[in-house]
Amino acid sequence: MTTGSHQEPIPLLDLKAQYATLREEIAAAIERVVASQQFILGPEVEAFEQEVAAYSQCTYGIGVSSGTDALLVALMAIDLQPGDEIITTPYTFFATAGSIARLGGHPVFVDIDPITYNIDPAGIEAAITSRTRAIMPVHLFGQMADMEPIMGLAEYHGLYVIEDAAQAIGAEYRGRRAGSIGHMGCFSFFPSKNLGGFGDGGMVTTNDPKLAERIRLLRGHGAHPKYYHRIIGGNFRLDALQAAVLRVKLTYLDEWTAARQQNAERYRQLFSAAGANIGLPEDAGYGRHIYNQFVIRSERRDDLMAHLKAHQIGCEIYYPVPIHLQECFSRLGYEVGNFPASEDAAEETLAIPVYPELGEERQARIVDTIHTWI
Ligand SMILES: *Cc1c(COP(=O)(O)O)cnc(C)c1O
Repeated sequence: MTTGSHQEPIPLLDLKAQYATLREEIAAAIERVVASQQFILGPEVEAFEQEVAAYSQCTYGIGVSSGTDALLVALMAIDLQPGDEIITTPYTFFATAGSIARLGGHPVFVDIDPITYNIDPAGIEAAITSRTRAIMPVHLFGQMADMEPIMGLAEYHGLYVIEDAAQAIGAEYRGRRAGSIGHMGCFSFFPSKNLGGFGDGGMVTTNDPKLAERIRLLRGHGAHPKYYHRIIGGNFRLDALQAAVLRVKLTYLDEWTAARQQNAERYRQLFSAAGANIGLPEDAGYGRHIYNQFVIRSERRDDLMAHLKAHQIGCEIYYPVPIHLQECFSRLGYEVGNFPASEDAAEETLAIPVYPELGEERQARIVDTIHTWI
């Protein structure tokens, strides 16, 4: 096997490879919407809502404009008030905490389990106060948070659980799918998610008919019927064009997930065969991990990243600054050292390609390149 920087670049994610296999089906789906001239909500969105709800073992799905808006509308649905507290993880994409703060709520952080990178349930109880309204676990990188103790605490203290399932569509925890265990699940169809659209999109899932109705209202300025506004909502609608594209892609999702899992397994074999001493992601054993990202770990992460980039291998840091240390949250008064597991992860982790079309040859080259660096 040959390695070297003269070889073709390996991107972190190759959406062109995916699109090449779907071109005609997607063209037909888009043409269907264009021919109907029904661009806002309508039958494509309704069908997609039912399909994602069924896929996620939920009764209801409400299509929204992004994963961020899914989180926002879920918090609006529980009528979050200024000063209310939501318990979540500081090691996540910004939207999780940002949506809480946008409504005047206080994100209250609890450190992660350093093995799974998900919120550590052992720290939650101490963070609960009389102002706590909900717990917002994030199923990071495609593996679900430890939901059983989280649901137990929520039930005992009368709290909502809102799952940030943006990276976890189809992931399972003891046979139950992401978005079906808490009161609501929030999904993103940002292009880099496992089910990605041709732009922004999102979905809230729930089994609660009252919450479903409220989210549906909030998504369209709180109006029902049209122009009679019962509550104040916003424009959080999913486009019919996105729904049509996503419906095509949903039929391939299980195949893609299987390929990602196979790639993850192959990485483990290749790294172990090479005797490469690098931190690999650990499967908590809850069930289906969908590998939105394959995240490795090294104390010399920045150097490794430079090495991979020099060899044209795509990689990315998710996330370089934990949320409690973000400039915009300095008013919350957190400081370095408050959440050591999250801070260490932010300094040591690196996502490498795991997309379905990656293939053995490219994986071998990636492992070789990392092994050489070690
Ligand atoms: C992507 C993502 C979001 C936000 O989704 P958008 O569709 O980009 O708004 C929220 N939370 C997590 C954990 C995400 O990965």
